[in-house]
Amino acid sequence: MIVEEEKFEVATEIGLMVGYLEICPVHEYVFSAEIDGELMKNACALGNFFISKKKPIVEIFQGNRRELTDKIQETGYWYPLGCPGCEKSEGGEIFRWISHQLKKE
Ligand SMILES: [Zn+2]
Repeated sequence: MIVEEEKFEVATEIGLMVGYLEICPVHEYVFSAEIDGELMKNACALGNFFISKKKPIVEIFQGNRRELTDKIQETGYWYPLGCPGCEKSEGGEIFRWISHQLKKE
């Protein structure tokens, strides 16, 4: 179970590197920027790259690419889509809209 949690954390870290997952600067929640889109592919590509390069960050996966990419995908579903704090607060929609627009560029 501990190992599973560690794997999930590694997947989260990789997701954060490419913006598949984000941390809200206001509420400090981790949230997913999207589900099953380009950013997820980028995160998986980065994970595969780390495995190819035998980076210590992915050591726990012991070269199992499939498991790593599955885990990365899973994080996107596990975290809320968009910051739950921003959803509730006034102006949250605007914040979401702006961050969405910035990503498109
Ligand atoms: Zn927020």
